[in-house]
Amino acid sequence: MPDKTELLSRPKVAIDMDHVMADTGAYLCDWLNDRYGLELADESFKTLRDQLDGEPRRAMMDLVANGELMRELPLMAGCRDVVERLHERYAVVICTAAMEYPDTIPPKIAWLHEHFPFLDPKLFVFCGYKQVMGTDWLIDDSVKHFDGFKGKPLLYTAPHNRDETGYDRVDDWAEVAKRLLG
Ligand SMILES: [Mg+2]
Repeated sequence: MPDKTELLSRPKVAIDMDHVMADTGAYLCDWLNDRYGLELADESFKTLRDQLDGEPRRAMMDLVANGELMRELPLMAGCRDVVERLHERYAVVICTAAMEYPDTIPPKIAWLHEHFPFLDPKLFVFCGYKQVMGTDWLIDDSVKHFDGFKGKPLLYTAPHNRDETGYDRVDDWAEVAKRLLG
């Protein structure tokens, strides 16, 4: 673990969890398909919440709110390696909007310890408005966090943001590496 003074002197990159580090959309599609015989693919929590109704929607909302799914979420391809490389050069801050679903906080911490044991947990931030973050970068799939954010936003492509324009966009972790590691 780097020394605190040295770590905090580095440029800071804040990284969102769902739909950025964790492939929440793929997991939810598989879970709903298995349970209800659906044929969902290439959806996110937001697009599923908008299109589902009845029992599948209720069950998905419960699953998300109780936080149990977090322990099972798969990593986005390439995420671990790129975050490990970022960690050599940046202060990597994990920034996740968890206040709507506070029961997800302990499983989110456990998930981060499992997959990213090299990160400093003192840089894990569970918040609501990410505009309060004073980081140099924010990688997120939700544009609502960018309005008023003082650093540089990087929009991580997800099914619910494909029509968004006006933001620097990355489609995958290889593009994050290109942008932040050169
Ligand atoms: Mg997200």
